[in-house]
Amino acid sequence: MHLDPETWREMPWIPATWRVLRVLLDGRTVSQSDLRRQTGLSHPIIVQQVARLRRAGLLVEDDPQSGQPGRPRIPMRFNWGYRRVLAVEVHPDGITTLAADLAGAALEAPRFSTLDDWREATVQQALQIAVRKALETPGPLWSGIGIVLPLALTPSGSALEHDGQLTPIALDAVQACLSAAWHLPVMIGDEAHALARGVCTPNSPAYARLLAVNLRQTGRARLSLFIDGRPAVDSAVPIGDATHVPVPDNALPCYCGRQGCLGTLLRAGRDDARARGQAIEALALLLAQCATLVHPTLIVLQHDDQWTDNETARLEEVLGSRTLPAIGKVLQCEVRPNRPHECLLGAARSVAQHVLDLRTGLLPVWAASGEDTIQPLEVCES
Ligand SMILES: [Zn+2]
Repeated sequence: MHLDPETWREMPWIPATWRVLRVLLDGRTVSQSDLRRQTGLSHPIIVQQVARLRRAGLLVEDDPQSGQPGRPRIPMRFNWGYRRVLAVEVHPDGITTLAADLAGAALEAPRFSTLDDWREATVQQALQIAVRKALETPGPLWSGIGIVLPLALTPSGSALEHDGQLTPIALDAVQACLSAAWHLPVMIGDEAHALARGVCTPNSPAYARLLAVNLRQTGRARLSLFIDGRPAVDSAVPIGDATHVPVPDNALPCYCGRQGCLGTLLRAGRDDARARGQAIEALALLLAQCATLVHPTLIVLQHDDQWTDNETARLEEVLGSRTLPAIGKVLQCEVRPNRPHECLLGAARSVAQHVLDLRTGLLPVWAASGEDTIQPLEVCES
């Protein structure tokens, strides 16, 4: 939830607990006087709120800092280790899971299991097994599951894309099944969505308008647009698929039934330099067109293992010359290597942000567990 404290001051109905949590969720270590200044709350209310959040386990205090006149300053911060989140990625080689804290930071090395069969029932079963194994590891309680799937949009709905093949999959069923089995919120997205989530923090300059582009899996080109830290289009089905955008002078047949798709060129580009050059050119032009329309503050592209510095230079050149000059001048473009666990961290952050949302998440419920016990009513005996 991104609202600056100045706005909150003008909203007297916002509970004191939310105001304190909002400051703590910015991630900084604060003192009681920082909290007082940033929330506008009085000293007794801050003392009460700090005690309540500490009882609930959501706030941790570090050792007092002395050396200055007056009472020692007690640094305090949000307890990011209060609950764990589980990130799961299904990718061409199998399924990888990663446990993270509520800040989206990895708590241990990722665990990998193979996936040989891509039928819907088998993928569902493999997902259930991988999730169960991960959730059984000892540690703090779990608060949610974020899943990254190699999704594609077909005329009949969603499908998993694997090595140029499509496997229809009912996302609602996957979500409902896992959620019912573990009583946890489950969020599903594709690799571009996860990349955007990993980049977008409330304090990052990319927050306003971010265009994430993911090429890490050969033959797939996924786009995702985030505005103010949220997906620009809230959709249950995967959107932003550039894989099947037609490229001129390309007659390669595609598994989608048409020919000339960008994905086929990326696939052919593994052994054919000309096809590769054509694919990167087409992608750069597509991104320039997208930039002209949405004017992103940042384009982040996670590339495949074949990407070269020349391709970065060509992308920047096209973005600079094929968009409006005003856009080309301010647009930042960041090219990231194919780091295997980047999407997992993005998925972890995605689900953590979901559960920490003060309006719709679990955080207010957790905070309420630190409330003072209600005293039983005294019964007057007549
Ligand atoms: Zn196609």
